[in-house]
This record gives sequence, C-alpha cells and structure tokens, in this order.
Amino acid sequence: MNEKKLQKRIVKITILTAAVSLLLLACSCIVIYYMTTAERTSYQAQMQAFINEYKINIERQFDSDMGALETLAGFISDSRILTLENMDEGITKNSRQTMFLRLGYCEKDSDELRISLSKNMGDALSLSEQNEQVQTIIRKAWEGESVTSYMYMDEILQQWVIAYAVPVYDNDTIMGSLLGVKNLDAFEELLNRTTLSQISMDVDWVNQNGEYVTWSSDSFIKASMGNIFNTQVLSEKEKAVIREKMAAGEPYTTEFENGGKNYPLYFEPLNRNGWYLVCTDKTSEIRSPVYFRFLIVIVTFFIILALSIFSILYGARYLRKNNRQLIGLAYYDPLTGSYNLPRLRQEIQELLKNDSVYSIAIINIRHFRYMNEIFGREQANGILKAIARILKQNIHESERYCRYMADEFYILLNTDDQVQARERVMAIMDQVGTLSENMNRTYPITLYGGIAVNPVTLPKNADDVSAGKAAETLIHRGEFALKHARMGQDNTVVFYDESIYQAENLQNQIESDMKRALSEGEFKLYLQPKKNLNTGKIQAAEALVRWIRNDGTMIYPDQFIPIFEKNGFCAELDLYMVELVCRQLRQWMDAGYEPMTVSVNQSKLLFYRSDYVQKLCQITDQYQIPRTLIVMEILEGLAAESIEELNKNISVLHEKGFKISLDDFGSGYSSLNLLARLEIDEVKLDRGFLAGDLYMENEKLKVLMKNIIRLAEELHIDTVVEGVESGDNESFISRIGAAWGQGYYYSRPISAADFEKMYLEKEV
Ligand code: C2E
Ligand code: CA
Ligand code: CA
Repeated sequence: MNEKKLQKRIVKITILTAAVSLLLLACSCIVIYYMTTAERTSYQAQMQAFINEYKINIERQFDSDMGALETLAGFISDSRILTLENMDEGITKNSRQTMFLRLGYCEKDSDELRISLSKNMGDALSLSEQNEQVQTIIRKAWEGESVTSYMYMDEILQQWVIAYAVPVYDNDTIMGSLLGVKNLDAFEELLNRTTLSQISMDVDWVNQNGEYVTWSSDSFIKASMGNIFNTQVLSEKEKAVIREKMAAGEPYTTEFENGGKNYPLYFEPLNRNGWYLVCTDKTSEIRSPVYFRFLIVIVTFFIILALSIFSILYGARYLRKNNRQLIGLAYYDPLTGSYNLPRLRQEIQELLKNDSVYSIAIINIRHFRYMNEIFGREQANGILKAIARILKQNIHESERYCRYMADEFYILLNTDDQVQARERVMAIMDQVGTLSENMNRTYPITLYGGIAVNPVTLPKNADDVSAGKAAETLIHRGEFALKHARMGQDNTVVFYDESIYQAENLQNQIESDMKRALSEGEFKLYLQPKKNLNTGKIQAAEALVRWIRNDGTMIYPDQFIPIFEKNGFCAELDLYMVELVCRQLRQWMDAGYEPMTVSVNQSKLLFYRSDYVQKLCQITDQYQIPRTLIVMEILEGLAAESIEELNKNISVLHEKGFKISLDDFGSGYSSLNLLARLEIDEVKLDRGFLAGDLYMENEKLKVLMKNIIRLAEELHIDTVVEGVESGDNESFISRIGAAWGQGYYYSRPISAADFEKMYLEKEV
C-alpha cells in the first residue's frame, strides 16, 4: 500500500470513529434527556404532593382557627350576653388547639374594641387606633364575612401576629365582630416541617404583592428582604410572569439559580387573602443530575474519542514507519541508496506516459568479481557507492538511475539521440575510470555499456499496462545491447540492434522449441527433383527439411540448420530425415511406384558418430529400403581434418550399400585434389557457379566447370549441377557434360505429396 492510500484510509477511519462516537454521544444524550425528563416529571409530581400537604395543613390550621372563633361567636350569640368573663370562658373552652393570644369584640359601627388579654380584661380600646389590618377585618366581619388578616406587628405583644374576625349574630342581625389574634408559631412550625428525608422543603408564605406572611427559617430567598420580588435570584421577566400568575391566582412553577445551581420554585395559591406558598427543594439542584450526567457522558466520550484517535494516529504512524521501511526495502538499493530495478521500472513507466524521448543505458563493471577480491568487499562497495554518486551528478531532473545485481547500473537518459547518449555514457565511464586512480590502485576500473533508444510513443492518457509494457521493452532492449557489449574491449558501448535482436530471438525460440517440434512431427520432408540430363527425366530427388509450425508458418533450414549444427541437434534431425525418406520410399514402393534415389544432407556431427552407420542400417532395415536408393550428401569440410579418416567412413557406408555425394563443391576452397582422393559417387557443383551475371560473364568460371565435370567423369564420379534456373543454364550444363541438373528451373523443393503427384510414375 502506498503512503497516500494509507493516509486516505487513516483519515477515513478517523472520520468514521469520530462519526460513530458522535452518534453514540447523541444517542446517550437523547437517552439521558428522556430519563431526566421522566425523572423530573416524577419529581415534580412528588413535589406537588408535598406542597399540597403543606397547603392542606395550613388551610386546616386556618379552618380550625376560624372554626374556633366562629364557635366562640356562636357562644356569645347564644348567651346573648357579652362579658369578658364569657369570652375568657370561651377561650378556655375552645382555644386549647387554637391558642388565640387574645380575643376582642367590637360592636357593630362602634369604635369601642373590648379586648381580652391573657384572661385579664383590658380597658376598652379605640378601634380606629388599632392596626389597620385589625380595623379592616373587624369592619369586614360587621358585613358578615369571616376574614383573616395579613400578618402584622402587634405593638403590645411585640410579635408578628395574624388576626381572624367573624361576625357575631343576634338572631339574623350582626351585633358586632369577634376578633382572634394568634401568633405565627403554628404556621411556622408547619412551614418548617421537613416532610421527607430526600426532600427538604423551603416553604415561604407570601401575599399577592409578594410580601412575606411568614417563612421557613433558612430559606434561600431571604424573607428579610420583606418581599419576594426584591430577590436577585429571579429575573425581572420572570418576576413579571409570577406577578401575573399571582394576580390570576394560578399555580406556577419555575426555577431559580443560587450559587451556580438551579433549584425548582413553586408558587401554590392558598385560596385565602391571595396568599401563596412559595416552595423550593434545597436538596434538589435541578440541573445537577442532568448536567452532571451530560458532563460525565461528554467527558467520557471525549476521553474515548481522544484515546481512539490517539491509537489510530499512533497505529498509523507505526504503519507508516513500517510501510516506509517496506517501501525502502522494496524500492531502494540499501547499499547506494539509489532506486532498485523494480522502482526504476515504475519510474520509467510514469515518465514514458508524458515523454517518449528517452534512452536507457546500462553499464556494467568488468570483472567486478575480481575487484571484490582485489580491493576487498568494503572498498568494492565503496566503488559502487562512488559510481552511484557520479550518476547522481550526471543525470538531469527528468532522468533516473538504479543499481541492479551488484555491479550493474541502469540510467534513463532524456534523449533519443544516439550520439548524445553515447557521449554522456562515455563521460560517465571516464569519471568512473578515475575512481581507481583516486584510490591509488593500479587496477583499472573499466565498464561496458548497452544503450537502447525508446521505440514506443504512448498515446495521451496511456494506461499503466501499456506504459508498463513500453518500460519493459526499453529495459529489455538495453539489457540486450549490454549483453553484446560484454564481448568488446574496455569501455565499449553497444547500441541495440533490432535485426540482431530478432535473429537472436528466433534462435532462442528455435532452440527452446526444437525438441518439441521434432517429437510433434513439425519437421517435414520436402523434395527437390533432380533431372537426369541423359534421359531428360526426373529420376532422383534431394530431401530438404522444412519446419512447419502448428500455426502453419514455415521456417527454412537456413534459419535453423546452422543453429542445430552448433547445438548438436542436427545429428538427430538428419537421422529423422533419413527415416522420413525411408518411410516415404516404403509407401511409394508399396503403392507400386518405381523407386527413385533420394539424397539426404548429413551434418558433420552425425557423420563421425560411432553408432551412425548402425543407426542408418536400422532405419533402412526397418522400412526395407535398398540402401542404394539413399545418397548421403556430405560437405567438403568433413575432409578438412583427414581425408583418410573420411574415406574410411565412406567405405563403411559403401559396404552397407549407401552412396556418397559431395555437396556444394566449389563454394569454398575446394580442390580438385579432393575429387581425386575421396571415394565419392557423386559431386554437386555449387549453385554459385550458375549464379546470375557472374556465370554469364565469367568465361573462366565456365571453363572451370567444364573441367571439373570432365575430371569427375574420368574419375567415374557422377556430376550434379545445382542452381539450374533457366533453359540456358540447362543447355549449358548439358553441353559441358553434366549428368544431372537440379534447380528452380525444374522445381522448387515441394512436399512429398506434391512430389508424388508430379513426378512419380506407376510401374508398368
Ligand atoms: P543444399 O544442400 O545446398 O540444398 C539446396 C538448397 O538450394 C535448397 O535450399 C534449395 O531450395 C536451394 N535451391 C535449389 N535450387 C535452387 C535454384 O535454382 N536457385 C537457388 N537460388 N536455390 C536453389 P534449402 O532447402 O533452403 O536448404 C538450404 C540448405 O540447408 C541446404 O543446402 C542444406 O545445406 C541445408 N539442409 C536442408 N535440409 C537439410 C537436412 O535435412 N539436413 C541438413 N544437415 N542440412 C539440410
Ligand atoms: Ca544438399
Ligand atoms: Ca548444395
């Protein structure tokens, strides 16, 4: 994986992680939100229940106080006498629970208020001098209402009190108002009661204007401010809403902040005097559970996110480092730090996509193996490094180089000019040559190099495959040129040559394919007729091999025989051809054709093989072919080593019945001497004698031919002239006494089947 891809993947993973985490976070928030809402709803219901309890208790207290006073009023009505003793008696009887601090009576429309105070009769007081609250409720009671006053400071008792007033009837007429005054102890006690352990209520009691009636002792909203609307913990806006709600006598729930925390705040109407209970739960800091849960989740989430991202990044760094190491191993030569071949190939591939003007030069150090021994490994490595440095200095920005296989350097040059390329490579070689001088060594560093010019111009936007192929071709050509430079001397530079390459390529193909071709019968028997010039008939033929491949292409012997002669395969092929000839003759004889002599070309290799004659006999025996029908064509080169030796072999073949023909006579340094000394049956004058203008113009050549033929005749050797291409040729060779003619004039070599059709006659 390359770095870019890795980076992309890391970014993807990171984004995915973040996205998944955020999703989880959102889910947790939603869950928390619902949980909290549910919790809050149930909490509010609980609170409401507590508040109701307070409310009921307080109202009960009112009702019982009021009830007590009304009972007392009834008592006064019944006795129709109003004395302070009566009143005291009433108080004693009824006020066990109600605990009025004092009672008072004020006759309707009178200003005289008669008051009992701790069972002692006081003087009559003037109503108009009493507290405004007292005056109001007494007057209301005269009108028939049972009323409760607001809280007020009793001057005499020196404490905050609340007063009740009820009408006192005489039959159906109101006689006056009965007044009961109570301190707030009972209410305060109620308000300060802690209902449940989890909830610690702060309950204050305010009138419609927000003024405190009474309060719990440690309220958050300090009653000392006198009015709840003086508090700072509620906003003006909130206060306006509360005022509105209170004016309408509706309950209201809100929150307030105190010391950075939020608390619930309930306004519950008391159905009396426009009073309200103002409640809060000091233990419940509203936002805290939600807030803290959110906070915990968010903090946990960010920790997890940070950890995940950290591990991703750490992992990525590790991977990248590893990757770099791998890339380093995969793409760089650890010794010189230059590219290695796979990387260079990649680079070439990319460069060729945009520019075809390139050549590749490959240089190799001669005898580097010995240098390792002479200089020692370390110094030899030093030389390689120095060469890499020289290359680095010599190449341009658009050029590349690499080291490959110890001592080979590939250089991609941005030129297609052979002269320029050679000059640059030679310059590099010269610089490398100076290295040994610098090292005070006498051993010269010489190089050889191959250069190939890029033959391919890629189309625009070429894909990797075609660019890769182009790179491969270029490198391959460079390597081919280098191989040919190895044979040269010193700093040789050889350019890639297509024809040499093709020939070599074919040769390689031929060599790698020959055995298979033989076993699969791709070598075919072709025959070229030989005309008997005395009878004017085709009475012999020469077997010539053709390689016809599976795909139908034909390869001529000129292309493969020399190769087979070198690699030894020719001996096998020649025997195979003898076999093909015998098989064919057998078929023809079986088919009733008159048999005809067939010449077979024999290579030097085969001729000296110890089992040669035996093999030949085996074949002729197998197909029961009279050996006199088989003529062995040999080349004069066979006699080069020893004529005697050759004659020995020939006589063995003669003994077995085979005939011997000397092929291509006159093509090399033939000597007439050879004709006289070799025990041959036939000589074939090379087609070079008749070749074109030379023969027409060169009278001497004609004389030579004439004399060779005459000599052969005298030595009882048959003569065949090859290369008869025209009637002129034929009449000339007949005139000079040649016995046989062979050539395109009669026929080109043709397949055995065609030969059969054209030249064989059934025996009569
Ligand atoms: P070669 O033995 O001298 O065979 C004669 C060659 O001359 C044949 O080429 C033939 O096609 C060609 N030829 C015949 N008439 C004329 C003509 O009128 N004008 C011209 N210009 N050429 C003519 P081919 O078949 O290509 O064979 C080339 C050579 O390959 C042969 O030369 C022979 O040395 C060798 N060869 C062919 N078959 C075999 C084989 O089975 N074994 C061995 N060892 N060598 C073979
Ligand atoms: Ca021949
Ligand atoms: Ca020949």
